Amino acid sequence: MTLDSTFLNTMRVAKETVVAIEYTLKDDQGNIIDASGERGPMEYLHGAQNIIPGLEQGIDGLVAGDTKNVLVPPQLGYGEYNEKLLQLVPLTAFGANTPQVGMRFHAETNLGMRVLTIKKIEGEEVTLDGNHELAGKTLHFDIKVVSVRAAEPTELAHGHPHQSGGCCGGGGCGSGEASGGGCCSSEEGSAGGCCSTEEPAAAQKQGGCGSGGCGCS
Ligand SMILES: [Zn+2]
Repeated sequence: MTLDSTFLNTMRVAKETVVAIEYTLKDDQGNIIDASGERGPMEYLHGAQNIIPGLEQGIDGLVAGDTKNVLVPPQLGYGEYNEKLLQLVPLTAFGANTPQVGMRFHAETNLGMRVLTIKKIEGEEVTLDGNHELAGKTLHFDIKVVSVRAAEPTELAHGHPHQSGGCCGGGGCGSGEASGGGCCSSEEGSAGGCCSTEEPAAAQKQGGCGSGGCGCS
């Protein structure tokens, strides 16, 4: 009997696999919003909502070495832009700080802790925007699957990968850079990330790193 070696070596992306991808994320105009680039591949646990649904669906069933263009509409990404998340506050609310358009900060809102962006400053009024910076955008991912492996039981229990750049592990966390698909990004927008505490967005499931889900650091 002859076994096909590709059969033996090929694990498809499916629920309960840990997948590493390289990606470039572009907007409708072809501008690069983010890329794994020098950060190296992003690793995530498939089927655990570590990344935005549209990207996860696009990767499903691929094998290591595959490349694909994945188009993610807003409803499968960061949601539609919601005007109700715009809020006016008086300039005086900033006290001694000088607000500037584009600045971001965390604030407690009636939707919980969110990242707010200063959208406009007019006279004594500041417009804050609680939308994710990628809300309403169609996302164009060019991805390459780098590796696929079965998840460890502890990874399944925690809902995220533990090795090589995983949420709690080797260097994935806290880089402070905007992360288009990555783990553990800081307050910058994270197009597919897990673990950022301040983004209850579509991409993220409660219970990941940073939201009290695990003590595996
Ligand atoms: Zn963990």
